[in-house]
Amino acid sequence: MSLGSNLGDRRSYLSDALQGLPDVVAVSKLYETDPVGGPPGQGAYLNCVVELRTKLTPRELLAVAQALESAAARARVERWGPRTLDVDILLVGDEKVDDPDLTIPHPRMWERGFVLVPLADLAPELVVGFLDSDIGRGVRRVGRLDGPQARP
Ligand code: ATP
Ligand code: CA
Ligand code: CA
Repeated sequence: MSLGSNLGDRRSYLSDALQGLPDVVAVSKLYETDPVGGPPGQGAYLNCVVELRTKLTPRELLAVAQALESAAARARVERWGPRTLDVDILLVGDEKVDDPDLTIPHPRMWERGFVLVPLADLAPELVVGFLDSDIGRGVRRVGRLDGPQARP
């Protein structure tokens, strides 16, 4: 799963979300990226990627993601606008879901440096052929969240 924040105390929103995620086994480093698309003038994003080892279904994971966003008082004002917390499901094993409200793998993940760079911390084999220097440009490492350490 991918966590992102570009409003308020970004680091706290991300670490609260991390604490609220079940069955976490690994957390990427933390990265800062200037916003890509969306309305002009919004602040930079902090992002990380989290690996869960869980029996929850994709739909149950979506419910978890949405509950965490509500807990962060996320308001949906405009598409791709600034947000306290965004929790996206990237991959669930090799499952595929193609419903109106849930698509897995996340359809836009492969073109996003702020997803692929942290994902490479946890599963470099998944990003081979997608993550090149172009796509990773502008994604700056800014330490890590507290909590479980990423695998070396
Ligand atoms: P993007 O999807 O391009 O990253 P976003 O994260 O800003 O944009 P949101 O407003 O957070 O978009 O989510 C819109 C809807 O996307 C959610 O209500 C959810 O039902 C749906 N959705 C579909 N697939 C997924 C997924 N894999 N993970 C999370 N939400 C998803
Ligand atoms: Ca998103
Ligand atoms: Ca989202």
